[in-house]
Amino acid sequence: MATRQDNTISNIKTLNYDSVIVGGGGSGMRAALQLAEGGMKVAVITKVFPTRSHTVAAQGGIGASLGNMSDDNWHFHFYDTVKGSDWLGDQDAIEFMCREAPKVVYELEHMGMPFDRNPDGTIYQRPFGGHTSNYGEKAVQRACAAADRTGHALLHTLYQKNLEAGTEFFIEWIALDLIKDEKGDINGVVAIEQETGTVAVFQATNTVLATGGAGRIFSASTNAYINTGDGLGMAVRAGIPLQDMEFWQFHPTGVFGAGVLLTEGCRGEGAILRNKDGEAFMERYAPTVKDLAPRDLVSRSMDQEIKEGRGCGPNKDHIVMDMTHLGVETIMKRLPSVFEIGKNFANVDITKEPIPVIPTIHYMMGGIPTTIHGQVIVPDLDGHVDEEGLYTEGKIVKGLYAIGECACVSVHGANRLGTNSLLDLVVFGRAAGKHIIDNFGSSDHNYHPMNPRVLDFTVGRLNKLQQSTQGYNAQEVADEIRALMQKHASVFRTQALMDEGVEKLLALKDKVDNIHLADKSQVFNTARIEALEVANLYEVAKATMLSAAKRHECRGAHTVLDYDRPEDDPIAPNGRNDNEWMKHTVWYSEGNKIVYKPVRKVPLTVDYVEPKVRVY
Ligand SMILES: Cc1cc2nc3c(=O)[nH]c(=O)nc-3n(C[C@H](O)[C@H](O)[C@H](O)COP(=O)(O)OP(=O)(O)OC[C@H]3O[C@@H](n4cnc5c(N)ncnc54)[C@H](O)[C@@H]3O)c2cc1C
Repeated sequence: MATRQDNTISNIKTLNYDSVIVGGGGSGMRAALQLAEGGMKVAVITKVFPTRSHTVAAQGGIGASLGNMSDDNWHFHFYDTVKGSDWLGDQDAIEFMCREAPKVVYELEHMGMPFDRNPDGTIYQRPFGGHTSNYGEKAVQRACAAADRTGHALLHTLYQKNLEAGTEFFIEWIALDLIKDEKGDINGVVAIEQETGTVAVFQATNTVLATGGAGRIFSASTNAYINTGDGLGMAVRAGIPLQDMEFWQFHPTGVFGAGVLLTEGCRGEGAILRNKDGEAFMERYAPTVKDLAPRDLVSRSMDQEIKEGRGCGPNKDHIVMDMTHLGVETIMKRLPSVFEIGKNFANVDITKEPIPVIPTIHYMMGGIPTTIHGQVIVPDLDGHVDEEGLYTEGKIVKGLYAIGECACVSVHGANRLGTNSLLDLVVFGRAAGKHIIDNFGSSDHNYHPMNPRVLDFTVGRLNKLQQSTQGYNAQEVADEIRALMQKHASVFRTQALMDEGVEKLLALKDKVDNIHLADKSQVFNTARIEALEVANLYEVAKATMLSAAKRHECRGAHTVLDYDRPEDDPIAPNGRNDNEWMKHTVWYSEGNKIVYKPVRKVPLTVDYVEPKVRVY
């Protein structure tokens, strides 16, 4: 492989694979395993060592209606997920995921994933927000857990299985751009190795984006620093639009002041949110499931308490979560990491006193649009448009798949239920791998020579940075984006705030385009990587802000005070405006164009879940 010298790039080497997967988290490694076990030559490119991918931080559990500890079946899970999504999730995809759930969890168990156990040897399951039995009757135990380290257990299991299956890992390599040919098909990626500054082309019949979330577009986030939305940036630069990006989940219980997550598993084990008067206030907002209401509802309720002067602390600016009644034994057995986080990030012994918490950005419901097989699909702008102006037909982007948090399939709609993301990773990672094998497993695997000009764009981006002599500091620009998103796209939004946010964000373009890289060295130059990440952050932030400003209703995590309506409102009878707004937003970077496509209302085998008021 060639190394970059004298501010130019020469002799870029090409590596050939059947499939190249960008991302070594839960979704990427599940897809890789399926492919490698199917006899394919697979490369996984990852920014960090695979087991340090952000999936490692997942604490609470993976959702599956095993029914080990309470009455459950996939129909209940399907209903809860549709309702949790505030009727923006596609019901065929949701049915697919909930039906597959027990199978994929048992597969993980058989791979050796160390789940906690019940006395009878079955997998331990805890309750989680929005998951209920018998269509909303009462909370159900559906989250399959390995203490509060479920993601850690999942990643280590998948990594070991991938080593066994012969997957090749390219660790601390950063994918920069997709390679698109004249027909618009994707032929692989261009990537750079952190350690040496080496640039290489990974040519493949199929490329799978599995780059995870982008929570770092906000200042206060539970997400790792690596979550900069690189896959979304790569897709956008290849002309692919992003779907439903206005929907960002605030997790109710980030540690106040630090943002580090305290899993919903705490409330699953019995933790209670309290205001300054010690009141368990969720009983007022969600009388049936109380603290186990979905995250959008709990976050809004906490914010409401603070707004109405019932926040805790000298500034009345946070809420507390009380676990003191759970007992030391339960906390140490079921929530050992939460105990550590309490000590290290809040100086609180959670066995003895409540811990201060605040809603914190956590999860991106939108992403790169895909089918249930993980194939990237974009609206056919020359195709059929229905009487409401929605694009009803889609075009598959050949050679490109997306899975995990960077994808929008869409199973989470306007609000994800906890534990459904780990599930999404393994269900759709597996489905994408299976689809590739079924469709390309027997192809000839001869790689066509590529037109060298396809690299011009990426080489140009690298050279521009390398040759920069003046401009803006990458971290200062990234911080500006984050501060802006935090202010203009928070838990409660207003139309004026969002419109102002759009204007300010678009005005940042010049800074984003003119980053100055002061350190030109080749060896482990993290400043170069951070500079390249800014372009990705910016695309994700624009997609979010522009999509949000255009959606004139409240739905799931998108709460706009101007459009708050009572449940019996004649225009928006369920508190949302389903007539006008039950549709997916699709944002194109070019011209900041937004189009809409219909929500898929026909499940695979069961009846449509009719929209109704979302009460818990
Ligand atoms: C603190 C926390 C706790 C959570 N707990 C739960 C839970 O209990 N249950 C649940 O269902 N969900 C949970 N979630 C959500 C869930 O963990 C994530 O949505 C999920 O793990 C994302 O997995 P992924 O495979 O999509 O991406 P990740 O695990 O984030 O992996 C992304 C991969 O992409 C790589 N990558 C990124 N950009 C590039 C690039 N340019 N080049 C090369 N590689 C790149 C990274 O190195 C990494 O390997 C939690 C989230 C957080 C933040």
